[in-house]
Amino acid sequence: MPDRPNLKNYSLERLRERFVEDGLPAYRADQVAGWIYQRGVEDFSEMTDLDRPLREWLLERWQSRCLEVDRLDRSTDGTLKAILVAADGAQVESVLIPDANRTTLCVSTQVGCAMACTFCATGALGFTRNLTTAEIVEQVCRMREVLDAPRSITNVVFMGMGEPLLNLAAVSEAIGILVHPKAFSMAPRRITVSTVGVLPRIGELLAIAPVNLAVSLHATTDRVRDQLVPLNRRYPLEALLGVLRRLDDVNHRRPVFFEYTLIEGVNDSLADARRLPALLRGIPSKLNLIPMNPHPESVHRPPSDAAIDAFLRVLAGAGMTVTLRRSRGDDIGAACGQLALRRTGAAAA
Ligand code: SAH
Repeated sequence: MPDRPNLKNYSLERLRERFVEDGLPAYRADQVAGWIYQRGVEDFSEMTDLDRPLREWLLERWQSRCLEVDRLDRSTDGTLKAILVAADGAQVESVLIPDANRTTLCVSTQVGCAMACTFCATGALGFTRNLTTAEIVEQVCRMREVLDAPRSITNVVFMGMGEPLLNLAAVSEAIGILVHPKAFSMAPRRITVSTVGVLPRIGELLAIAPVNLAVSLHATTDRVRDQLVPLNRRYPLEALLGVLRRLDDVNHRRPVFFEYTLIEGVNDSLADARRLPALLRGIPSKLNLIPMNPHPESVHRPPSDAAIDAFLRVLAGAGMTVTLRRSRGDDIGAACGQLALRRTGAAAA
């Protein structure tokens, strides 16, 4: 019965409206959401405090599940990558990254990606379709089931496959469900949305909730960024940084997280490192350096450790807040930019 709507496509507010339209009290929507999001129960027949007619109405009118784990790979560092399959057969990947004091889930927002960044494996796939709100939210539901209890997912980053700001309607409803006290009840600052810089949508994103904004920078000149991130031809560096400089009011001076994938011979020169502080001046920011994770779809390679070190030293010397992101899960194709549904040799859990 594919025509029944999925409950997870509705924000709590809209779900209440739908229940009321059908003559049910609004609190019933909260109860159902509590079962699904707080207790992890999706089967209506197990929602024991709902009376039988209500459970039958739910069964007839709604569905509550749309993604199944097709494959699960576990990295030697504890990272878990799942391939999830949707009702139409579309596949997406989610990556769980357990750490000492937090467990981060990296979710996908699109099947493939239209941005075609030259160093990114997802970019090489091309774009198939947007994910629905339910498909985004359900990545959290499915992935918390594979966690060892009593851990729970503490952080969600929209850094999987796809460009979140080109699917903002679904992403914004999903954020609404993540932060809602009757659903996942996550603090907005535990959520990060990463974009290549779809300028007209950045303000709109931050108006939904004060989530963290990450921006994929990757270059210090338009000449290089035009090549790496084709969207730069539409929204060049000065335009991008101009918008971010004016964010202060909406973003409450919270830092912008800049991602900079270091690629040997392309964007890793000391001249690049020297240009960065001036470029980012006036934007409260943190810079995250990610040595390029190689994959078969790209000719690019990471710089040597010595080159990365020299790059870092210039930035630290200029007083920038900079971190080197240790890649997680690259043995199972789960590291940044490797998400392209590549079947790996790692044992399925
Ligand atoms: N489309 C959004 C969301 C994806 S985030 C965005 O690009 O921001 C994925 C992050 O991984 C981005 O910063 C991306 O530039 C980075 N990335 C992509 N391919 C990579 C690779 N091969 N090595 C390291 N980082 C990569």
